Amino acid sequence: MQTIEKIGERFWYMTPVSETDRPVLGMVVGDRKVLMIDAGNSEDHTQLFLEELAKKQVPKPNIVAITHWHWDHIFGLSSLPEVISMSSVQTKAEIEKLIPLSWSDEAIDERVREGTEIEFCANAIKKEFVDHRDITITVPDLTFDKYVEIDLGGVTCVLQQVGGDHSEDSVVVFVKEEKVLFLADCIYPDIFSKQINYTVQKTVELLNMLETFDAETYVLSHTKMLSKEEFKSEVALLRTIAKYTDMLKGDQTSIQNKYAEEVNRELDEHELETIEYFVNGYTMQK
Ligand SMILES: [Zn+2]
Repeated sequence: MQTIEKIGERFWYMTPVSETDRPVLGMVVGDRKVLMIDAGNSEDHTQLFLEELAKKQVPKPNIVAITHWHWDHIFGLSSLPEVISMSSVQTKAEIEKLIPLSWSDEAIDERVREGTEIEFCANAIKKEFVDHRDITITVPDLTFDKYVEIDLGGVTCVLQQVGGDHSEDSVVVFVKEEKVLFLADCIYPDIFSKQINYTVQKTVELLNMLETFDAETYVLSHTKMLSKEEFKSEVALLRTIAKYTDMLKGDQTSIQNKYAEEVNRELDEHELETIEYFVNGYTMQK
């Protein structure tokens, strides 16, 4: 069940669905213009968001900003022909690569076999598009290089490319007046390589950039919102494990022991998983 939630006076979002990989969609309502964040994983997803917002008298968007090129953030874009779409230069270039692809079961399965698509996305696409596979890849109208500010009237959004292991083109949207930082997927690991991984350098660079924003709420596209405290503890976890990964040369057991010693308790699933991803990244780079 997807629900519409509101943060502050001007930011609305719809909750995600894990089974079909529907990410959070955001809407920032200014006095003059309305900005939608991410275009949805299908036209149905996009339209549901707009219908639910209309019930709450939230106006339609004038602009839609894409956070990165992954299918679940862009397949709905074709249902917004009257809206100006924008992305980073790199995101647009990646989206263009999807245009020649077929999305039939056979074509998707073939790409999974040859290693250019992953099982997780293949399954989610099949579950989202049960009755049809009319997928039209739409490229963004407008591109920016690294950074752009949009004044919507009474509320300003900063779009900044931050990169990271999940997707190099990742852009975050900072809703200044509401202190909301829409992280999308940027803080997640790289799930497209043979092994899910984080690399030390990219993680540290990403965190350095994210910490420059003075936010109170952090929006993750596929998991729950984070408060400032929760975000800080996630950053501390990533930084500490990155440090130990380097120091202990990617040795999983030593990193686990060192981290357990530091926190003085047994490690939870999330911590163990994060260590595993850093070890994978370290091994991959050797
Ligand atoms: Zn993604």
